Amino acid sequence: MSEHVASLWAATATPAPDTQPLIGEVSVDVAVIGAGFTGLSTALRLAEGGAKVVVIDAYEPGFGASGRNGGQVIPGLKYDPETLDKLYGEATTEFAGRTADATFALIAKHGIACDAQQHGWIQASLKQSHLPLLRTRMEEWQRRGAPVEMLDAAGMAEKTGSERFAGGWIDRRAGRLHPLNYARGLAKAAIAAGVRVCGDSEARSLTRTESGWMIAVGSRGKLRANEVVVATNGYTGRLWPKLKATVVPATSIQIATRPLPEDLLAKILPERSVVSDSRRIANYFRIGPENRFMIGGRGPFGAPEVPGHYRRLIAAMHTLYPHTRELAIDYFWAGRVAMTRDHLPHVHQPAPNLTMALGYNGRGVGLATSLGQAIGAHLLDRSAPLPLKLTDITPLPVHGLHPIYATAMINYYRLRDFFEK
Ligand SMILES: Cc1cc2nc3c(=O)[nH]c(=O)nc-3n(C[C@H](O)[C@H](O)[C@H](O)COP(=O)(O)OP(=O)(O)OC[C@H]3O[C@@H](n4cnc5c(N)ncnc54)[C@H](O)[C@@H]3O)c2cc1C
Repeated sequence: MSEHVASLWAATATPAPDTQPLIGEVSVDVAVIGAGFTGLSTALRLAEGGAKVVVIDAYEPGFGASGRNGGQVIPGLKYDPETLDKLYGEATTEFAGRTADATFALIAKHGIACDAQQHGWIQASLKQSHLPLLRTRMEEWQRRGAPVEMLDAAGMAEKTGSERFAGGWIDRRAGRLHPLNYARGLAKAAIAAGVRVCGDSEARSLTRTESGWMIAVGSRGKLRANEVVVATNGYTGRLWPKLKATVVPATSIQIATRPLPEDLLAKILPERSVVSDSRRIANYFRIGPENRFMIGGRGPFGAPEVPGHYRRLIAAMHTLYPHTRELAIDYFWAGRVAMTRDHLPHVHQPAPNLTMALGYNGRGVGLATSLGQAIGAHLLDRSAPLPLKLTDITPLPVHGLHPIYATAMINYYRLRDFFEK
């Protein structure tokens, strides 16, 4: 069995479920490829509806972004409600607004122990010029009845313990969780509902047969299924033509400090809200397990080096909270997020009985969970609508060069962020 990345999450995780590799030939109603939040929540919903389901993962449940992220459960999509209404219709906006509530409800329903707390998310601004946009966003959600509120600089200092912010807004639908425990808990709930979850089971090929689909699994497994769901997000390989080229697998990096001493713990994020900032290349932070301060942000393409690639993050932490200079950093880790051109996730159905969902742009804890549940419901009953329009698989131009052009874009955005007031 694979070992999970050496993150703070892995160090504080509940034991992984027993997920033996798939060996021999197995036939099911639905095969799900990828055991992250998308795949596991799809499988759970399907099994609850009576389908026979197998989930396979190249490594283990939560191996990908789902077991490594910031654990911030944030509702919404890239676009604000009024734009979403115009582009996709009110049902999509409503879906986007409910993703955090739906995730916390799913966790409660299955009794998943993952430190789930609905203590709010703050979108914090270091820039005076961002505040009008944040106010519009807040007001649009407020008109829809969401528990949201604007914060001025003094309010931000009180809620975050940092004097650096010009303002922000808080969304109390949001909150935090332990992502690896959540992924493992979802896997256990799926197994309890009758799903077979197989680790160390890479899908090596996906082919159409007369009666459905055939997946070659590892070197010794064959999985036959009437229906297939591909849920591989930033870890998408060459399983289906051009799918990999629809997303840029960007690296998000994180650090976690030594446990905070009592005085800092009382000052930093006293309500235990989670925070991300409003810049184009944003950082996100929170208090994590063992009362450690955690901060994350954009990393390099390719494997980040410690401490080199993490220096910017460490400097950002010291600027926000000068007292953290005294604290050693115990954990450094990274994972892949799947970025799309329009900053929205995509659902594809490129062939009969084949569904793919990916591209959460670094905001997938609530979204992937909710989309997976919706896909499961839709596959059980095709009259249950999907919350997002289906799109064609459209590769990004010169995708192979993404480490070059995406790095250039990131540097350009960083420069714009820097010069903004
Ligand atoms: C460092 C980091 C911080 C983040 N912070 C946040 C946050 O705070 N809040 C938030 O909302 N979102 C955050 N995200 C994004 C969020 O984690 C993802 O959007 C979400 O987890 C995506 O879930 P998924 O199931 O679609 O994909 P993943 O969890 O990435 O799962 C994909 C799985 O597919 C498997 N796989 C790939 N190819 C194959 C194959 N051929 N055969 C079998 N298995 C295969 C992989 O092993 C992997 O386990 C963050 C992401 C990262 C990396």
